[in-house]
Amino acid sequence: MENRYLKLSGLEPLIITPESNFINVGERTNVTGSRRFLRLIKEEKYGEALAVARDQVEGGAQILDVNMDEGMLDGVHAMVTFLNLIASEPDIARIPIMIDSSKWEIIEAGLQVAQGKCVVNSISLKEGEEAFIRQAKLIKRYGAATIVMAFDEVGQADNYERRIEICERSYRILVDVVKFPPEDIIFDPNIFPVATGMEEHRKNAIDFFRATKWIRTNLPYASVSGGVSNVSFSFRGNNVVREAMHSAFLYHAIQHGMNMGIVNPTMLEVYDEIPKDLLEHVEDVLLDRRDDATERLLEFAETVKGIKKEDSSRQLVWRENSLQDRITHSLVKGIDAFIEEDVEEARQSVERPIEVIEGHLMSGMNVVGDLFGSGKMFLPQVVKSARVMKKAVAYLQPFIEESKDSAASSAGKILMATVKGDVHDIGKNIVSVVLGCNNYEIVDLGVMVPPEKIIEVAQKEQVDVIGLSGLITPSLDEMVYLANEMEKKEMNIPLLIGGATTSKAHTAVKIAPKYTNSVVHVNDASRAVTVIGNLLQENNTIYKEEIRSEYNKFRDQFLNRTKQKNYVTIEEARKNKFQINWETSEITKPDFLGSYVIENLDLNLLMDYIDWSPFFRSWDLHGKFPDILTDDIVGKQATELYEDAKVLLNQVIEEKLLKAKAVFGLFEANSVEDDIVVNADGKEFTFLTLRQQLKKREGVPNIALSDFIAPKDSGIQDYLGTFCVTAGFGTAELATEYEKNNDDYNSIMIKAIADRFAEAFAEYLHEEVRKKYWGYATSENLSNEELIKENYKGIRPAPGYPACPDHLEKNTIWDVLKVEEKIGVQLTESLAMWPAASVSGYYFGNAEAKYFGLGKIKEDQLKDYTERRGISEDLTRKWLSHIIAD
Ligand code: SAH
Repeated sequence: MENRYLKLSGLEPLIITPESNFINVGERTNVTGSRRFLRLIKEEKYGEALAVARDQVEGGAQILDVNMDEGMLDGVHAMVTFLNLIASEPDIARIPIMIDSSKWEIIEAGLQVAQGKCVVNSISLKEGEEAFIRQAKLIKRYGAATIVMAFDEVGQADNYERRIEICERSYRILVDVVKFPPEDIIFDPNIFPVATGMEEHRKNAIDFFRATKWIRTNLPYASVSGGVSNVSFSFRGNNVVREAMHSAFLYHAIQHGMNMGIVNPTMLEVYDEIPKDLLEHVEDVLLDRRDDATERLLEFAETVKGIKKEDSSRQLVWRENSLQDRITHSLVKGIDAFIEEDVEEARQSVERPIEVIEGHLMSGMNVVGDLFGSGKMFLPQVVKSARVMKKAVAYLQPFIEESKDSAASSAGKILMATVKGDVHDIGKNIVSVVLGCNNYEIVDLGVMVPPEKIIEVAQKEQVDVIGLSGLITPSLDEMVYLANEMEKKEMNIPLLIGGATTSKAHTAVKIAPKYTNSVVHVNDASRAVTVIGNLLQENNTIYKEEIRSEYNKFRDQFLNRTKQKNYVTIEEARKNKFQINWETSEITKPDFLGSYVIENLDLNLLMDYIDWSPFFRSWDLHGKFPDILTDDIVGKQATELYEDAKVLLNQVIEEKLLKAKAVFGLFEANSVEDDIVVNADGKEFTFLTLRQQLKKREGVPNIALSDFIAPKDSGIQDYLGTFCVTAGFGTAELATEYEKNNDDYNSIMIKAIADRFAEAFAEYLHEEVRKKYWGYATSENLSNEELIKENYKGIRPAPGYPACPDHLEKNTIWDVLKVEEKIGVQLTESLAMWPAASVSGYYFGNAEAKYFGLGKIKEDQLKDYTERRGISEDLTRKWLSHIIAD
């Protein structure tokens, strides 16, 4: 039995001898491990999928693992197609294939087409000896080697004794019964996570090491393999620790005889370069050397979290560059660990401390600006750069004051404010940070800023530009008002307009005509830099004239287009309402009528309901989650942002930093014309709905939300729900705390996360209502994706949105549910909800209810509405200004 080596081959042989180095298995061609690969296979982009395989080979993989196990894929077809394609690419087919599947039919299909001698991944005693023997015999006949998992009829081996028991039994069956060549057996004795906090996981690594040694000593010629990244699972989000852990694990595993494995080379630190203290903590855990090893590593991990790989390992490299290069590197990479040290060195090299800001720091930030401007850096990175900049400036501040130097000269002073009655500031804060990075001095007045204050501060501080932001529609009117006031005061500085509800059309039509100086609509941070740069350049006359004429032209076109629209009278529109056959329409009486409060919902319940795509959008990263994480352009940045978000999110959950509350009610309701009258605890309340007035094609209705509720005169009792949820209590305090520490990144992050929780809460509660409280969809069972698409029966329109643009309706919801009294969510004077991370709306249960856009309304409906609402026409005009047809 001399020379019984594991011999594999693609086009070339791979012979694994005791002298061989560790054999590295490439893992990116695995649909369960790589979202990108999965997408390529799903879209049948085999050319690109082959490129992934080629990258693996070029990157040093010696065996290529191919896995097509995904519910939506025809695994056999995908495996066969891909292996056939590989066969015709000599540079890939050079190395042996590992056919990876939990389905025997896929394995066998792969075995039938793979050339050379490949490896099956994997078989085990999980389904008993009979299946194990049958599969092993076939593998032997196909001439392949196989991985054997430490798994039997009872389950997966999770301690030392079980590992050796199962491996020995498997080995004996293979060698004695099947006559399987022992050198073709590769054991996978299960790599499990360590430092999970569970007592029974403490020995996961060391048991693996010991079992490996036992196998290599007692089961002649067999190899040992494993998937390494699993070991660091509990440190997801902290790559510094993960990479160190992978290397240390491998180091010890190899010492104990592991001779091949699946390792992601980009997630591997050089063992010798792991900082000593980190290594000690990691090895304490892997080798179970101390009782408190896990706590100590967790604590230590906090101190290295967020430090990029470059800092811990390659620090020797970049830390040896020139001072300016180091400062620029810190700024570009968003690393704050060394900035004070470097800034101090810079301070000692200049005469006046201010020179460090004007010189070293500004030239670093210019690099950031250029990279951002050319699309090579993304918003979240820039905000991180700003954090480093702020830290540096804060460090220098006392020295500057001491030297009685005036502040550094800036490129201009910008006032930023969210207008009166509005509470949303994520977008505004991002723009402020980015402008700050470009050497503008920012005077940020925060949210809900009254117009008088904006004007007063602008004049006192002699700012160069005013930037206004708003998210809800009443803010549009505030902006018009402010432009008017600025004109009256003969102010002569440009006005920038931004925020979710604003548009170029509204800016051109309603705001620009009110104000003589420039008015520009800017909705993203990088454009704000360009626009302000142009507005403040010395010879700006031409630019300003261009803007003015562009907006004039835009306005004329817009008005012409809208004038051509035809409307019907409100009477005609009502005759053409959306028809539901109330005799046959299914109406379920809610199991509970009345209103309910949820005091303090466990945020864990909301995790599965989070819709991540809007989160990335708030950071200017566009794309659908989860694909965005593997996007060719923004994927890396999105992944990093997502990791950062999850760190904070977990902290929020663990430390209960945010409070989630809700109040909702289900009531008897009937429609009366365009009103919906509900009976809440014996009291009547009326919700007003607005009806589409645009002239429709034959057969297309003019819809109002009231059409989805049975009319009173039908004699049929119908129902309506209303709700308000919030996850915002605690946000403002946390954000302020971060800002105090010059950490805009996390200040913005916590708000974005609170928004996600609020939306998730709305989704969660709506489901609870459908399935339990109202109970008209008890057997509904939808995935997160289906929920995001709102693939369910019924809708939850929100006041301020297109079907019901009238924010005044929130007052009624507040009255009906006693929202403020019950859960503390308030309405501002513009009817924004406070805390900002709140959602409110109605529940319509009818299967035919759907979202629509109201469009514009005409004077007749306006008058009718004014009467129904019982307020003055002026007020109606103010609240509905953005939906009144010109
Ligand atoms: N999953 C998203 C949900 C927000 S947008 C997130 O997490 O951010 C979808 C919601 O907007 C709907 O549930 C509804 O409340 C509101 N909405 C969308 N279109 C609407 C319309 N035409 N009229 C009224 N409300 C609408």
